[in-house]
Amino acid sequence: MVYTALNTIGGLIEEVAPKIEKLTMWDCHVDGLTAKIISPDEFWGYEIIVFESMGINTAPKTEKGKIAFERLKTISTLSAGMYLPTNSILLISKNTLMKNPDVQAVILGHEIVHRCQDVNNPSFVKNWVALFKSFGTNAFDDNLFENENFRKCHSGYNDLVESDAAHVTNQLIWNFYTLADCRYTIGDNQINILEDIQKKDGRAGINRLYGLSLTELYDLFNLSSIKDKQ
Ligand SMILES: [Zn+2]
Repeated sequence: MVYTALNTIGGLIEEVAPKIEKLTMWDCHVDGLTAKIISPDEFWGYEIIVFESMGINTAPKTEKGKIAFERLKTISTLSAGMYLPTNSILLISKNTLMKNPDVQAVILGHEIVHRCQDVNNPSFVKNWVALFKSFGTNAFDDNLFENENFRKCHSGYNDLVESDAAHVTNQLIWNFYTLADCRYTIGDNQINILEDIQKKDGRAGINRLYGLSLTELYDLFNLSSIKDKQ
């Protein structure tokens, strides 16, 4: 692993990564990971690098595009951490290091789940590159979700990636970092679906979801949620 900026993050990764590996049954391949501690306003620069590495022009051409660009830039400063699959970089905000140690471990743990998703499911993560490319060519000047099929694929991908990361992070809190005193609730309905699968088929059942197509995932998370509400 390559550490830049503060060294403290290295020890924390070595402590948290084995716990995530146990919970996900995946190897996080920590040796290939570059971890950096950055200022909140540096996240956007890394996102731009990802866009540009894919040959995407990030300059907005319309007024609507400029507003979208500035909005996303502002949102990025609120990030606590970020994992970039294209270059195996894990970014942690300097602000995160001011929080209590359990919260730091939990934030880092969440990003390590994304690392595990990435290196253990290469064909699934190819979807991320395809989605990112659509996002980059459309987002700044058009309505990203005008295309219904794109909307479903984007939702199916995010539902699995983020709700599984939240599901594992919650297990990390309950089992190891109880002083973090929080629970991930974004996508609660999706997290409940994953908890049911875990109860029935164990972690292997969740890991099998990464072999489904994005539209199958969309149906799993959205049709089940409709059923639950009835
Ligand atoms: Zn996440």
